[in-house]
Amino acid sequence: MFLSYNLVMDRVILHCDMNNFYASVELLEHPELKDLPVAISGSQEARHGIILAKNQIAKSYGVVTAETIWQAKRKCPELILLPPHHEKYSHFSKKINEIYLRYTDLVEPFSIDESWLDVTGSRRLFGSGKEIADSIRETVYRELGLTLSAGVSFNKIFAKMGSEYKKPFAATEISRENYKEILWPMAARELFFVGRATAEKLNSLGIYTIGDIANSREDALYTALGKHGIQLFKYANGLDDSPVCKFGEREPIKSIGNGWTLPHNLTERDEVLSAVTSLSETVAARLRKHQLKAFGIKVDIKDPNFVTISRQKQLDNPTNLTLTIKKAAIELIEAQWGLKDTCRPIRLITITGINLVPEDEEFQFSFFHSDKDEKSNETMERTMDQIRKKFGKNSISFGKSSLR
Ligand SMILES: [Mg+2]
Repeated sequence: MFLSYNLVMDRVILHCDMNNFYASVELLEHPELKDLPVAISGSQEARHGIILAKNQIAKSYGVVTAETIWQAKRKCPELILLPPHHEKYSHFSKKINEIYLRYTDLVEPFSIDESWLDVTGSRRLFGSGKEIADSIRETVYRELGLTLSAGVSFNKIFAKMGSEYKKPFAATEISRENYKEILWPMAARELFFVGRATAEKLNSLGIYTIGDIANSREDALYTALGKHGIQLFKYANGLDDSPVCKFGEREPIKSIGNGWTLPHNLTERDEVLSAVTSLSETVAARLRKHQLKAFGIKVDIKDPNFVTISRQKQLDNPTNLTLTIKKAAIELIEAQWGLKDTCRPIRLITITGINLVPEDEEFQFSFFHSDKDEKSNETMERTMDQIRKKFGKNSISFGKSSLR
């Protein structure tokens, strides 16, 4: 009885994920590089520039996202590096979502190059879920010259895992009939939302595969991982009923900022530094909470006469760390406001992380590859997130002057 109810009521959800999105967009304008190894990277002059994206050929040399340019060049000396163009990626992202919207109005972008589509009600017009996925793939390729991989399933998580399963330019259906066979033998780490730390914890409990998670006791997972454990149990068993939002209802977050009108005008360098530290801290914590990183930092300063300056700078690599955000903000203020021991009076400061990119797992857990300071800062700031979660927002913060 229950089973037939499921069969009647099952949703048909697609997850569409562009293949090597940044690199593919850049290559549209450089067809002569199409058969060469190409990567998009942060500034080459900066010592710590990292690989942001790569094409399939660079991938075959072992080039991975988030490693340093230096490491990538060692694997592939002839690697061609191009700088990123975020406006271009946004432009194509919009065009791609417009194509999805021809099939359904339930299109929920997850990041610049990934969207979920609920096509349950579109089948009469466009065919089965798999047929719709194939039609979308071909349309995007024909009209924009870009390829994507799609997953088709009865929930969002399995659809996402389907789009990961076979790349590039493929569609994979994860059904009630095959999900145990396809997904359960995979490593626990492969389940959506299982990061490296969680995977290690699961392994220490003897849980190695997605099937092991599905067949664990829910209360044991709760004891080990809290609410996250319950969520993983549900995901592994296909019990995700979260809806696909209507397009425009949940836009991906474009920027994260925080500003203060100060109790009195700031004129002392020390006061400005401590305000900037606190603001950077909240911006960084909110970026981490949303699993995002900022590629640029913007500072707005208003003086007592309501004259506002607004300045922004690109970072070499995306960040969600207080220290990096603070450093960029201070540089902007120093350059634009003349921040010596004293400065022109400041009435309001706003710090905003802009050009956000998803802190996907490659970025999130690749800090073995990044430089040592960034790694230890990341570890420290994540620990602070944990402490605040447990003991309250004001339980810990950066010392006012410890972070110059
Ligand atoms: Mg992608």
